[in-house]
Amino acid sequence: MRPRVVVVGSINLDLVVRVERLPQPGETVGGGTFSRVPGGKGANQAVACARLGADVTMIAAVGADTNADDALAGLRAAGVTLLLEESDEHTGVALIQVDAAGETTIAVAPGANAMLSEVELPGHDAVLCQLEVPDAAVLSAWEAATGTFCLNAAPARPIEIDPDLTVVNRHELDLLVRRDGLVALTLGAEGAVLLDDGEEIARAAPPSVEAVDGTAAGDAFTACLLVSLLEGRAEDEALARACAAGALAASRFGAQPSLPTAAEVDALLAS
Ligand code: ADP
Repeated sequence: MRPRVVVVGSINLDLVVRVERLPQPGETVGGGTFSRVPGGKGANQAVACARLGADVTMIAAVGADTNADDALAGLRAAGVTLLLEESDEHTGVALIQVDAAGETTIAVAPGANAMLSEVELPGHDAVLCQLEVPDAAVLSAWEAATGTFCLNAAPARPIEIDPDLTVVNRHELDLLVRRDGLVALTLGAEGAVLLDDGEEIARAAPPSVEAVDGTAAGDAFTACLLVSLLEGRAEDEALARACAAGALAASRFGAQPSLPTAAEVDALLAS
């Protein structure tokens, strides 16, 4: 049985300009190349869960504009069921600059994402949230959840909930209000640690890859850890799979285009 995951989160259209080096304030750097890529942590994690074999529903808000069609394309292609609120605000947009070394600057206009509030959940095994939507939406998802509640606490801000599984990176850890339950701490190229009520229970390093773009590595990691645990895999195996999924995303350009399938994770771990 495919695990049923409901994602309550953000949908953005990423407007990406690749340049040789990032401009200083007040400076213009020319010669870039441009792409429009579906993004938003919520949408990225919904697409990742679907590619990894889950049956996914996404609850989100978009605007009545043409950016919505582009922003939803990746979710539609991945077979995610969409429960959308149409807002008077514009579809969320992220302006991303990427330099030759993969370093980024990102400015986000959340638009419709900031309007998401009370949600009603369909039947599920797990609910997955991030912090690119208002507290009201995350709190209502948490209250309504009947299965595993997973929070990727990014971008970090304190929120008074008690997830079954929390995923953070080093920068986000300090702002966690609750550190009980399962907490996965990601460490970039060094991999990740899994803590249960503060005690380390597993540690994994990703297979070595040539990293070209860290965008969505955390999204691939979070989705793979949750789906692997829902599939009944042991915690150390689930963590190793999540690290491999993050490494695959870091080895490819873009957000949603870089997210791996379950077969790709299996192949990397077998190699
Ligand atoms: P975030 O993007 O949320 O800050 P991390 O950078 O910690 O998250 O990346 C999430 C996971 O992706 C890591 O735990 C690791 O498994 C994998 N990963 C990230 N960067 C690399 C890299 N350069 N090489 C291999 N794996 C990576």
